[in-house]
Amino acid sequence: MTLDLPQNCLQPRKRAHCERCQRALRACICACAKTVESPIEVLILQHSAEKGHIKNTAGLLHLCLPNSRLWLAEQFPEELLQIELAHDGKQTLLLYPDDSVTANAEPHFFEMPARLPVNRLRLLMIDATWRKSRQMLNAHPCLQTLPRYALTHVPESKYVIRKARQAHQLSTLEAACYAMMALDTSDKNYTPLLDALEAFNHLQCQFGVHRLQREPRFKMYRDARIYSTKILSEISSKFSVALP
Ligand SMILES: [Zn+2]
Repeated sequence: MTLDLPQNCLQPRKRAHCERCQRALRACICACAKTVESPIEVLILQHSAEKGHIKNTAGLLHLCLPNSRLWLAEQFPEELLQIELAHDGKQTLLLYPDDSVTANAEPHFFEMPARLPVNRLRLLMIDATWRKSRQMLNAHPCLQTLPRYALTHVPESKYVIRKARQAHQLSTLEAACYAMMALDTSDKNYTPLLDALEAFNHLQCQFGVHRLQREPRFKMYRDARIYSTKILSEISSKFSVALP
């Protein structure tokens, strides 16, 4: 005997989502965004694993900056990147820490030419975990040969809900904000970006994101769901995890 189920029983129901920030309506972050008209173009290459991460700040940064684009992929075609970086004659800088080593090219660091107008700058950011960002960098010679811009003397991160390995490691939004502050020699005010981050922090705390992070039992339960039944039972006996 076969059991026929209606299709809508087999597929998860799609939640209503916000067209602008692409999040579920109940998790919409549009109200947190503060518009900042920067002359510096920002191009964010986001690894697709970051898209569903509720604590990711690249989407908020993109909402705040009209002069920004966010490309999402697991792998970006090298040829497409080459064309994009060369088509308008702008000077692209890769915002990346100076302690990173790439397989194929020695990084060289950017020094602002005295006569280069700030609106001829493009700041390129890789939004991924450290491991994946290194993989992306190593996979793209056109990114490796870009002059790099590394932040120095940055303040401690205000981003309280995503753990950094070190206090000076910043969220994507903060890194972009401090880089533009340093590169833009006009009196443009970039602090509304930090206000947006604060509102985002506040909203995430309302969702209980900080609480989930502090409760290892719940975290273990969530992670454990991907393991086999055998490992699940081992984890259960070890950590006294409540299993479904
Ligand atoms: Zn939204």
